[in-house]
Amino acid sequence: MAYMAEALGEFFGFALRMTEAQDLPRWRPSPLLLASGVLHLGAAAALIARPRYWPWALGGLVANHIVLAGAGLWPRSQFLGPNLTHLPARGDLERSVAITIDDGPDPDITPQVLEQLDGHRARATFFCIGERVLQYPDLAREIVRRGHVIENHSQRHRHNFSLLGPQAMSAEIRRGQESILSVTGSSPVFFRAPAGLRNPFLDPILARLRLRLASWTRRGFDTVSADADAVFRRLATPLRSGDILLLHDGHAARTRRGAAVILEVLPRLLDALQAQRLTTVTLRSALS
Ligand SMILES: [Zn+2]
Repeated sequence: MAYMAEALGEFFGFALRMTEAQDLPRWRPSPLLLASGVLHLGAAAALIARPRYWPWALGGLVANHIVLAGAGLWPRSQFLGPNLTHLPARGDLERSVAITIDDGPDPDITPQVLEQLDGHRARATFFCIGERVLQYPDLAREIVRRGHVIENHSQRHRHNFSLLGPQAMSAEIRRGQESILSVTGSSPVFFRAPAGLRNPFLDPILARLRLRLASWTRRGFDTVSADADAVFRRLATPLRSGDILLLHDGHAARTRRGAAVILEVLPRLLDALQAQRLTTVTLRSALS
């Protein structure tokens, strides 16, 4: 309970600062976050006015936190704030698909991925880990030199990212932003949470850093599945205009032949896109 109270205090103080900040885009809480805030204030007022009703207030708060946690564990949900899951339906993006590649760069896999993309004249968005960008700066610059875009996937890809408080979460994202800018000279405009998992602190942090959350339409689960056929099927049946597809050049599972799954899936995917006359675009094309 003490942790919850502390976290809530921190959140509302933080949210207040966000809505008051003058030179930043105004952060607008999602309807669920707004309703949660009202519920918490109502519970606090009820406790002061009628202390004996505390079990009801506590029950309401626990139920609310279960809903919030559920929304954070659902990577494609919009309940905690805006979340790009498809390319916008715009004329210039007709017959476009965005391939996104996470968790790199990786010195063994990424150069091969770049060759495969070049072979099909395809463009991709790489959600890189800040630490890895610092570790392999030449590779990160090579990604950009070949016409792809690097976006922010946090500094360390912490497995407990969705459990972090606002300060630690903000530091992870800000440091990822700084690492990518220092190496490539370009600031990311999109953020993807590690494993897509998040909590209510994320949305105001992204507003402050002028970042947009992006998840995906479909993912291949290629960090856990070594079956390239199954990964391909998850991504490509069916392929539709506007899809945002997710593969991994970092943390990649290995096929029986020892190859990273993406290296077997990507050429097939690029062939399938070509056969359906679908063009690859970077996520930045989604910005109006
Ligand atoms: Zn990741």
